[in-house]
Amino acid sequence: MSINKLQYPIATKPEFGVPMKVAEGIFLLKMPIPYALDHINLWLLRDGDGWTIVDSGFYSEQAVALWEAVLTGFCNNQPIKKIVITHFHPDHVGMAQWLAHRTKSTIHMSQIEFLTTQMACQTYSSEQKATRCQYFSRFGLAQTEVDQLQDRIGGYVTGVPEAPIAYQRLVDGQSLTINDEAWHLLQFSGHSPGHICLNNRQRKLLISGDQVLANISPNVSVNFYETEANPLADYLASLSSLSTLNNETTVLPSHGRVFKGLPERTEALTQGHHKSLNQLREFCQQAKTGLEVIEHMYGNRLNLFNLSLATGEAMAHLNYLIAVGDMSRSGETVYQYKTN
Ligand SMILES: [Zn+2]
Repeated sequence: MSINKLQYPIATKPEFGVPMKVAEGIFLLKMPIPYALDHINLWLLRDGDGWTIVDSGFYSEQAVALWEAVLTGFCNNQPIKKIVITHFHPDHVGMAQWLAHRTKSTIHMSQIEFLTTQMACQTYSSEQKATRCQYFSRFGLAQTEVDQLQDRIGGYVTGVPEAPIAYQRLVDGQSLTINDEAWHLLQFSGHSPGHICLNNRQRKLLISGDQVLANISPNVSVNFYETEANPLADYLASLSSLSTLNNETTVLPSHGRVFKGLPERTEALTQGHHKSLNQLREFCQQAKTGLEVIEHMYGNRLNLFNLSLATGEAMAHLNYLIAVGDMSRSGETVYQYKTN
C-alpha cells in the first residue's frame, strides 16, 4: 500500500479566530497555542437554532478575546447547546470551564478524561514530585536535568486555570445527537486515557482530535504515576480500529489539515511505530539506559520540555517490547534495557 497518499479537500488556509466552513454546518476555528505547534483546530457545529462546540483551546487572554468575538459575531449570540471535549490535554480542555460559564452550556467528555483533568490541575505533593523525579532518574537522565524538570511542574494549569466543575459523560459506542444527526462516539486510549472521536457515519466525517493527524505522529507516553503501562499497544489497537471506518471518511483533526485517506494514514502511523520498535530491538542488543535510547531515537539536542516528552515516548516503546517478550529491564537506580 502506498503510504501517506492523502487528499486535502480544503484548499483555503484558515486564519486565527475566523471560522472556516469545511462541510455543511461545520466550521473549523483555528486558535493559537503556545507550543512549537502554534495552533489547534476547534470545531463549531450548527445545532438547531444554536451551536455545538468541539474542543475549547488553551487558556489565554488572547483566546478569551477571540472566543468573545466568535460568540457575539459569528455565532450571533445564539445558544451554545453542548461543549464537547475530546481529551484532557490543555489545548483541548483549557477554555472549557470558561466557555461553560460564559455560555451557560454543559461540558461533555468521557469520565476518565474528566477525572484526569481534575488530577492534572492539582499541585503535586512532595512525595509525588519525588516519584516523578525517580521516573526521570531511573531512565538515566542527569541529576541537573531532573532538578530542572522538577522546577517545571505546574505548566498544565497555565493552559487550564480551571478544570471543568460538572460534565455529562460521553460513552464509547453511544451516539451524540447534534443538529438531529447521530455522531457515533469512539473512545480510545494511548494518546490519552479515554480520548473521544466523533464519527458521523451518514456523512462520512470523523472529528479525530489528536488520535490521528495528517502530518504528526501523536505523542504516546508512559506517565510517572503508571510506569508499567503499555500505551503503545492501546494506541496501535486504536489505529487498527480506525482503519476499519469507511475509507471515504473525511478526517477533521485537531492540528494540521483536513484530509481523506484514513486507511493510508493509520497504516503509515502503525508502520512508523513498528520501525521504531525494530530499531530498538537492534540498538539494545547490548544493554542501554533509557537516556541512550532517547538519544538514539531523537538525538541529544532536546530542550527540557521535549526531553520530558521523549522520556515518556521512549518508555512507551520499551514497555511494549517488554510486554511482547522481546526486551528485558534490569537495574534499580538506573534501568538497563537489553533485547532478549
Ligand atoms: Zn493531545
